[in-house]
Formats: sequence, C-alpha cells, structure tokens
Amino acid sequence: MNTFEVIEDRFEVLDHVPVGVCVIDKNYTVKFWNTCMEDWTNIHRDYMLGAELGDNFPCFNALKYRCRIDNIFNGGPPVIFSAQLHKDIFPSPLPDGKLRKLNTMATAVPASDGKGFNAIIVVEDITELTHRIDKYRQTQDKLVKSEEMYRLIFENSAVAIMMADDQERLISWNKFAENLLGMNKEDLFLKPVKSLYPAEEWQRIRSHNIREKGMQPHLESKIITKDGKVVAVDVSLSVLKDSEGKIISSVGIIKDITERKRSELASEQARDDLETSNLKLKQTIEHTNMLAHEAMMASKAKSEFLANMSHEIRTPMNGIVGAITLVLTKNLDEKVREYLTIAQRCTDNLLNLINDILDISKIEAGKLEVELIDCDISKELCLINSCMRASALEKGLNFDIVLKDKIPQQIRTDPTRLYQCLVNLVGNAVKFTETGTVKLEASMQTIADKSFICFDVIDTGIGIPVDKQSQIFEKFTQADGSTTRKYGGTGLGLAITKQLAELLGGDLTLDSQESKGSTFSLIIPTNIDTESAVMMDNDQWRRTNQQTKQDAIIPKACGKVLVVEDDLANQQIITGILEETNLEVEIANDGAQALEKVSNGSFALVLMDMQMPNMNGYDATRILREKGFTLPIIALTAHAMKGDEDICRRVGCDAYLSKPVDIEKLFKTLQKYLTFESKFLKTEPSE
Ligand code: ADP
Repeated sequence: MNTFEVIEDRFEVLDHVPVGVCVIDKNYTVKFWNTCMEDWTNIHRDYMLGAELGDNFPCFNALKYRCRIDNIFNGGPPVIFSAQLHKDIFPSPLPDGKLRKLNTMATAVPASDGKGFNAIIVVEDITELTHRIDKYRQTQDKLVKSEEMYRLIFENSAVAIMMADDQERLISWNKFAENLLGMNKEDLFLKPVKSLYPAEEWQRIRSHNIREKGMQPHLESKIITKDGKVVAVDVSLSVLKDSEGKIISSVGIIKDITERKRSELASEQARDDLETSNLKLKQTIEHTNMLAHEAMMASKAKSEFLANMSHEIRTPMNGIVGAITLVLTKNLDEKVREYLTIAQRCTDNLLNLINDILDISKIEAGKLEVELIDCDISKELCLINSCMRASALEKGLNFDIVLKDKIPQQIRTDPTRLYQCLVNLVGNAVKFTETGTVKLEASMQTIADKSFICFDVIDTGIGIPVDKQSQIFEKFTQADGSTTRKYGGTGLGLAITKQLAELLGGDLTLDSQESKGSTFSLIIPTNIDTESAVMMDNDQWRRTNQQTKQDAIIPKACGKVLVVEDDLANQQIITGILEETNLEVEIANDGAQALEKVSNGSFALVLMDMQMPNMNGYDATRILREKGFTLPIIALTAHAMKGDEDICRRVGCDAYLSKPVDIEKLFKTLQKYLTFESKFLKTEPSE
C-alpha cells in the first residue's frame, strides 16, 4: 500500500473534523467530499464523488482560480483563498440566509496512481471568528473615540484636572492646571500632591479619609501657586483601585472660586451695608416723624394763633368800619367827610392785609380748600365791575369788561375765590397803570377735551421786566423795590392768586412788556358740560350789568330783629345798619338773654354773635332749636377760620356772616329770610 492509499483510507476520519475537506484530481474530478462539506453546501457525497468540481462550483472553471490550483497538481505550494476575497468559492448559506465566511486552502497530496499530485481542499468556517473580530474592531474604535473625547474634555476643561500615582505624585494634568498653578511640565512632573496645599489644608483634606471612602466631591480649600499666592479652590477628589483594592492612582478636579468668594464677601458686605442703611433710614424716619409731629404741633399752634389774632383784630375793626360807614351816610362837614374817607381807605387796606396774611398762612398750612358750587359768572363780573370801575375811573383810566366768546352763564367753581383772584388782578392792573386802559376779557378754551374760561386782565401800565416776571409769583416779592414806596402793597397778592388758580384746577400766567403793559391770564375749568349749558354773549352780559347797577341801592324791609351781641360798639353799628333798612332792633347781651327774649317776643330773625360771656351763641342756638324755635338765626362771628361756618350750621344756624360785617352780604342774607319791599328784591341778573 502506497502513501496515498494509506491517506485515502484514512479520509474517512476527516468526516469527523469540523472543517470541510474535498479532494480533486488534476481533472478536477471530486475524489473525496466529507460530511462537513455535505452539511455546508447541502450536496451529498454520492452526488459529488466522480463529478467535476467546476460543474457545481463555477469558480473552479474560472481561469484565475485554475491558474493557482493547477500549480498544485505539479507539487506546487499550497494556495489560500481568503474569506474576504473569495467568498463565492463554496457558496454555503447559513439558516439566516447569509453566506458562511469560509477560509479555503488547497494543498498538494500525491495521487493514488503515483503520478503527480491531487489537490486536497480544506475549508474552514471563520464566520464566527470574523464576527468576533469585527466586534472587537468596533469596540476598539469606540474605545479610541471615547479616549479621544475624554482627552479633549481633559485638555479643554475650564477646571484643573490632575492625576497622581500610587505614591501621590503628579503624573498627568491639563493645561488649566498649569495655568492655575503657574507651573510648567518640569515643575509638575512627579511633584508630591501634598506640596500643592498649605499644610493645614492638606491636614483637612486628609481628615476626610478619601483613600478609604474612594471619593469626596466639593471640598472648599486653598492651593499655593508657583509665586506663593494662595488661591481659594473647590476640590473634588477620587481614587482608582485595582481589583485587589490597591490604590493605583488618584484624580483631583480643582476649580478656582476666587470670584465666587469675592462676590460672596461683597454680598455679605452689601447685606451689612443694607442693614446699616436700613437702621439709619429707620432712625431718620423716626427723627423726621418727630420733626413732622413737632411741625404739625407748631402749625396747629400757628393756626390757633391766627384764628385768635383774626378774631382780636376783626372785632375792633368791625366797630371802626361800621362806625365810619354809618357816619358817612350822614350830612357831614366836607373836611370831616374827607378825613373819614381817608380813615375808611386805611381800614380797607388794613382789612385786605389781614385777609392776605390769613390766606397765605392757610395756603402754607394746606388748610385753604376750595368749594366747587354753581357760580353765576355774570354776577361775579357785575361785582368786579361795580367795585373796580370806580377806582379805574378815579385814575382817569378806561375800564371795560368784554366777553370775546360766548361763555356759560353758570360754571362750577368757588365764586368767592374766583372773585378774589379777579379783584387782585384788576386791582393790580389799575394800581400799576397811569394812563390808558384796564380791560378784563373773558374767552373760552378747550384743553384735553376739558373746557376752561380764560380771564385776561390787560393793562397799558408800567409792565414787568422779563427777568422779574417769574419772581413776582413768589410771596413778598415785587418787581421793583421802589414799587413798595410808590404803590404800596405787600407782594402777597399774586402769590395767593396763583395758588388759588391752581387750587381751582387752573393756572395764572403772565405776558408783559416793560413800559408797555401786562396781560395776566387766569384760566379755570368750567367743570360743566358746555354743550348743554346756557351761554351768554357780550350783549347779554352788558344788559345784565346795566340792570344790576340800577338795583344797587339800600333795600327797605319790615319786621323785628333780635341782635345778640355783647360788645357795645358792635351793638350800635349793627343797630345803625339795620335801622337804615327800616328794621326794628332789639338787643340781647348774651345767649341767656337771647333765650329769654325769643320766648317772650316775636322776632322775624336773630343775628347771633358766637363768642359771648355767660352763654355763647353756639349754646343759645342749640337750646333754641331744641325748644322748637324755627325762626331764622344768622351767625355773626369774628372767627374767620375754615370750619367755623360748619360748626355754626351744625348747632342750628341758617346762615353765617363774618365780622367785620360786609353790608352788601348782610343785606343779601337778610333778603333770604325777611320780606323786603318788592322793588328792591331783584338782585338776580336777568336777560
Ligand atoms: P403787591 O401788589 O401787593 O406788591 P402782588 O403779588 O400783587 O403784590 O404783585 C407783586 C408785584 O408784581 C408788584 O409789586 C409789581 O411789582 C408786580 N405787578 C403785579 N401786577 C402788575 C401789573 N399789572 N403791572 C405791573 N407790575 C405788576
């Protein structure tokens, strides 16, 4: 038996090896086909033995395969067909449909006839191996990428990262670590970690037992830079151990927290500062409250003082004014009349001054309030006309009141204050004009959908220099110091008028040229719907004015009036005035007498002084009302402060008059309650 036969006999052992084995002769006739080949190719041995290999596996017909195998039949070297390049050599499908990866090697074995060689083809299934290699490669790739990523993070981190060996010496660190410490590679390599920290800080870090615990995040500590600077840091430490628990290295992540510390310190400081300033503020508020309280008390005291003073001054003034007025109604010697007229002018001035001082004090104390009621404009203009025309004409000036537009007959404002403003302005115009005209022009204006009446007081007088124009609205200020000497005055009028204009919801402005004249414009809101209001034009106003002038004479009445007054002079004055109107007068010296007299007599009206000894007017009025007396009681009081009127009305008075008595106001009030001769009754303007 030759070698080949021995080998061929033993081929059957190859049925048990996990590789495919096939033997072909130089004609490519299959001589052997083992079980593994059967399984992989699904072709039975009986079919394959004696068949030509190329008939079933076309690759073997291809020249490039043949060239290589043919060599073998001449005893040439083995040939390997790799699974990647020659995957179609023995197509061998797996259960999932994919082809098996086969590594194929052809080797020469001597032919059984002793002539030449056969080829033994050994096929190895490397599907699993390839798969594992692929997987390994992918894992390797991932590892490389992740290492790359970690390296980037490590290098570009905005925190210092340092790694130490098992003996706590630095072996790796990033750029940030170098920057933070101000050290380079030479400084850092194998530098003991301990030397980076101040001794007490290292002790503190050690006390955390990180080597046992494995890690410690966010420890606040300090490190020392190359130039000895101590930097506040946040340190996170961890150790790496091998499978036996032996420490192989440690990693530290170190963050510079200087800024954070600084801002913490700053906010602490700010908090302290805030607390200090809060405390100061509290003290200031307390102090201010105390001052405010003191100021309030002082202001109250001032108001009370003013009230008392006004009472004290007005009471004797009442006597003087009334007496002069009465005497002037008598037949008098020319000289006496002249002196009395001077005295009257002086008392008028004095009264004006007292009123101004009272007003400015009230404004300053915030006590001056305006009361918006229906106000008949034509009536107010008539009043201005009657009281100002005479003084203008006396100086040889033309005086006129003109309605430039149709204006509402009635608006809602405070008539007393409006009158006061206009009298002030017209009074000044007359005072500061030597020749020419003083004119009051009324016109309408609309500002932001609200209607206003504008009163322009125009004169051709001395005018006001531009540089003085803003000052004259301040109190006690006059355009020119010499004004006081020449024209008198206190410098209060415009200050009061401006404030009153503002209190009425309007304003006072000025347009003036030195030596040419001035225009003071008082603008006030109408506070009504002008669309539905009754309007009045210039002609209507002129007719009304004419009518009113004819009515301005002392009216005659009948009936008995009880005058309750303790002051003898005032008793005489009031009696004199009332007797001028034909009224019968009886006197009661105090409240108690008044009660008695009212019970026993029949009076048409009571004029009640409020401040009296024994029983005052308030008590007397209240008792009279409690007893059921309904007769009109008119309060007459020198208490000219705000609030007095309210008190009087509350105790039961029907009307209120302040002293010194304004004769015109007294007559008007009496008309409401007494029967006057009909020809005098018409005081309301008519068209
Ligand atoms: P008084 O008239 O009592 O001095 P005012 O406050 O009414 O106080 O006026 C302040 C100053 O304004 C006056 O002293 C005067 O210099 C100036 N003034 C006011 N009205 C006029 C006017 N129509 N023409 C010129 N100057 C005026």
